[in-house]
Amino acid sequence: MIAPIVRDIAALRAQSEPWVRAGASIGVVPTMGALHDGHLSLVAAAKARCEHVIVTIFVNPKQFNTPEDLANYPRTEGEDARKLERFGVDAIYVPDGDVMYPEGFSTTVSVTGLTDVMDGIYRPGHFEGVATVVAKLFTQSRATDAFFGEKDFQQLQVVRRMACDLDIPITVHGCPTIREMDGLAMSSRNLLLSDRARIKAPILFEELEKIADGLAAGAPFADLHSSAIARLEKAGFTKTDYLELRANDDLALLEAPTRPARLFAASWLAGVRIIDNIAVES
Ligand code: AMP
Repeated sequence: MIAPIVRDIAALRAQSEPWVRAGASIGVVPTMGALHDGHLSLVAAAKARCEHVIVTIFVNPKQFNTPEDLANYPRTEGEDARKLERFGVDAIYVPDGDVMYPEGFSTTVSVTGLTDVMDGIYRPGHFEGVATVVAKLFTQSRATDAFFGEKDFQQLQVVRRMACDLDIPITVHGCPTIREMDGLAMSSRNLLLSDRARIKAPILFEELEKIADGLAAGAPFADLHSSAIARLEKAGFTKTDYLELRANDDLALLEAPTRPARLFAASWLAGVRIIDNIAVES
């Protein structure tokens, strides 16, 4: 089934109005397009749980840190619509920049605390951009449920906090990270990796797994961390922004998994920033 592509708020509202009136569940899956199986797993989760599903595709300029990154971001709308056909989603919402941010737009949604660490430090303004656009997508779609990937775990927690703090009546569901056969977390940015870099890219995930195994065996995090950084450098990762153990709920820095925790990493390979995270035993 080919889903209608809607490009403005009025058309989106016209679609969802009868669903809202009928008290139906509406799932929203916010994406920036260049859809891969990770995105599609969120769509499948939304379809399994909700009576109606809206997929949004918007390359949100406010969450990019450099004009180059925004310009290089892959855009594949026709292909994306084709990939969504088999899921039978009810609408694909593809707003233009001036639909989301018309002239005079002046509001920023800023979540404190959770954004003081990791990508909040290395990508200034990124989470404000995310929280602002997601708050708008939630209210525009009037969804009852939203589906986000654990691949971007910090983002997931920021979105949960934002929806709770702004009293937006929506349940935010976290979905597991989908990986390539070699372990690399699927990401639209993987398209930017050269063939050579693509072969090395799964090493980041392998190092996270080694640390998780080491922690389970009782090794100190600091030791596991320094050997992982050394191996990443040897493999060609030029800079690791962070490689940290943090609590799931408030993202507090931990030295040992004394409560539910994850390992988080962001590292650069051949000019591409790769992020990943995995759960550890607590
Ligand atoms: P993006 O298009 O990168 O903004 O991602 C849209 C949504 O897809 C976010 O909730 C991401 O966390 C999620 N996502 C991206 N990659 C994956 C993946 N490999 N597995 C699961 N979810 C993912």
